[in-house]
Amino acid sequence: MTPPGSMPRGARAWASVAAACLLFTGCAASPAPPPDDPTARQLAGRVSGAGALVRLQVLQRIADGSGGDRAAGGTGYERSVDHVAGVLRDAGYEVTTPTYEVAPGRVLRNVVAQTRTGDPATVVMAGAHLDSVEDGPGLNDDGSGVAALLEIAERLGPAPNVAHAVRFAFWGSEEDELQGSTGYVRGLSEPERASIALYLNLDMLASPNGGYFVQGGQGLRQARSGPPGSETVARVLTEELAATGVVAETIPFTGDDESAFVEAGIPTGGAVTGDEDVKTADQARAWGGRADAVFDGCYHRSCDRLENVNRTSLDRYTRAVGGTVARFALAPSLPAR
Ligand code: ZN
Repeated sequence: MTPPGSMPRGARAWASVAAACLLFTGCAASPAPPPDDPTARQLAGRVSGAGALVRLQVLQRIADGSGGDRAAGGTGYERSVDHVAGVLRDAGYEVTTPTYEVAPGRVLRNVVAQTRTGDPATVVMAGAHLDSVEDGPGLNDDGSGVAALLEIAERLGPAPNVAHAVRFAFWGSEEDELQGSTGYVRGLSEPERASIALYLNLDMLASPNGGYFVQGGQGLRQARSGPPGSETVARVLTEELAATGVVAETIPFTGDDESAFVEAGIPTGGAVTGDEDVKTADQARAWGGRADAVFDGCYHRSCDRLENVNRTSLDRYTRAVGGTVARFALAPSLPAR
């Protein structure tokens, strides 16, 4: 918890920017926290793709020992839940495994962990789905998002000096109509939903021929763009990706685990590297890789194994999401709804 009267350093820097915005017109309605905050840089600087890769190796072993997949309802999923919950508990987090219903009388578990510090009334939240399809181990989809979040959670630690509590979520049954994330959001009370200041969804961060995509604030309908404030989440993630050396493209949401958060009016961003769409010539020029080839040839297939994972994009997104989470966690002013 931040002691009363002692703002984190980044908060003070930001307060002066906010004061400047009152004097001059032209400041955005939902300003983003500043990129050069030293506390955020220190938190994010410890995060790496190499750390995420270690987590992916464990998910591969879990799938290999569970018939080749981690699909919700199966042994591979249950082992994934126990593993992730154990890692977070060992790191010192408060961990819960809230259930959601998949059939009358049948429930499965999500995994949710939160820092012991920061204001729990203004939670900065990030999530990734922990299940795979039945046809494969799902190391890119979405082991990559899970591994990035675990790396960030471990490096951040359970009691960082932040203004807002940070919550990490690992969803079940994304591959089965988003039941885990939907059940979670629907199961919250209205005050609990209101306490989530923003949500960042990670789904496929390591497509072998992937792009660098950010979601939020783009699209004609709210289901595609996210509610007001989403563009701020997307902007910060884009800045953080730029710091890793890549210019991201902003695209609309396509109905992943962010859907229930968007529907609840929570400012939302997304990080994706693409699934079965084809990379354009322009995208190949900007990012490398092969034009006219799909982003992930192993999408929803048995070959979505460790060897399928793009270590370069995994590293960039892990560091960029770490920086995004840290910056929002330190910001005294969060995106307006
Ligand atoms: Zn996915």
